[in-house]
Amino acid sequence: MTKVLVATDKPFAKVAVAGIRKVVEAAGFELALLEKYTEVSQFLAAVADADALIVRSDLVTAEVLDAAKQLKIVVRAGAGFDNIDLEAATKHGVVVMNTPGQNSNAVAELAFEMMLYQARGGFAGKSGFELRGKTLGLHAFGYVGKCMAAIAKGFGMQLFAYDPFLSAEDIAKEGVTPVASAEELYEKCQYVSLHMPANAKTKLSINHALLSRMPKGATLVNTARAEVIHEEDLLRVFEERPDFVYLSDVAPICKADIEAKYPGRFLFTAKKMGAQTEEANTNAGIAAAEQIRDFIVKGDKRFQVNK
Ligand code: NAD
Repeated sequence: MTKVLVATDKPFAKVAVAGIRKVVEAAGFELALLEKYTEVSQFLAAVADADALIVRSDLVTAEVLDAAKQLKIVVRAGAGFDNIDLEAATKHGVVVMNTPGQNSNAVAELAFEMMLYQARGGFAGKSGFELRGKTLGLHAFGYVGKCMAAIAKGFGMQLFAYDPFLSAEDIAKEGVTPVASAEELYEKCQYVSLHMPANAKTKLSINHALLSRMPKGATLVNTARAEVIHEEDLLRVFEERPDFVYLSDVAPICKADIEAKYPGRFLFTAKKMGAQTEEANTNAGIAAAEQIRDFIVKGDKRFQVNK
C-alpha cells in the first residue's frame, strides 16, 4: 500500500491533519505521522519505507533522501522550498513540489496589517495617517502580490507593479498599473512591498540605489525573504533618510542595530509568521495531500519544482 509520511517538527493544526488524512485514506493510501521529532535519526527511520512525504520547514537533506529508498515524491506544504535539497532529490529521481498560492492571502494580510499599524503609530494614541490615495508598488506580482493588490484596492491605494516575468497586460488585467523597471517602481511609490523569491538574481538586490529613489515617507515592506535586502545599504538609507521606515516579517541580521538606532521607524514580527494562520496551514496541508494523490494516481506533475 502507498505510504504517505507527514514529517513535521512543528506539526500542522489538528484540522489540517484531519483534512490530509481524509484525502490520503480516500485514495486508498496509508498515512503515517511523525510530529515534533527531535532527532534526525527519527526522520531517517520514518522515511525509510515512505512512498510520499509531506513536510513544512523540515530539512529534506541528501541524508534524508538517501534513507528514503521508496520515495517518489516530496511536497513542501508552503511556497518556498529552500529547505529541500533539489539536486539530491533529482539525483534520486524524486519529484519535488510546493503548494503555490495556498498561503498567499495570509502573507498579504500580514503585510497590510503591518502597514496599517505603522500608519497609526502603533495605536499609541497619537494622530496618524491614512492609506487611501497613497502609492503602493508591488515588487513581484505572483500569488502574494496579487492578494496584496486585492486588499489595497479596497483601501483606495494607487497600485503599481513590476515583475520581469509577467507582461504589462498580465499586470494590467488585475487592475494594477505595470511599470517597466524596478527603478521606476521605487521612484513612483511611497510604499514598496516585496514579493519575489530569494534566488541568485534577487539576493542583495534591494539596495541603496533603489531605496534612495523612493519619495518622501518611504516605507519598505518585506514579507518575502531577508536575503533579498542589501543590509549595509539598508542601514545607510536609515541613516540618510529620517523618513525611511522598514516593516519586515523576515528579520535582517542587522535587526538589533536598527532597533537601537531608529526607534519608531521599523516593525519586526517576533518570528516569521506571514503564513502562520490556521487557514493557510490547512490549505497548504490538504493541497499537498491532493497533489500527492494526483501524482500517484494520474502522474500529474503540475507543481513540480525540480524539472
Ligand atoms: P510566486 O512564485 O507566486 O511569485 C513570485 C513572483 O516573483 C513571480 O511572479 C515571479 O515572476 C517574480 N519574480 C521572480 N524573480 C523576480 C525578480 N528577479 N524580480 C522581480 N520579480 C521576480 O510566490 P508567492 O506565493 O507570491 O510568494 C512570494 C514570496 O513570498 C515567496 O517567494 C517567499 O519568499 C515569500 N513568502 C513568505 C512567507 C512568510 O511567511 N513571510 C510565506 C510565503 C511566501
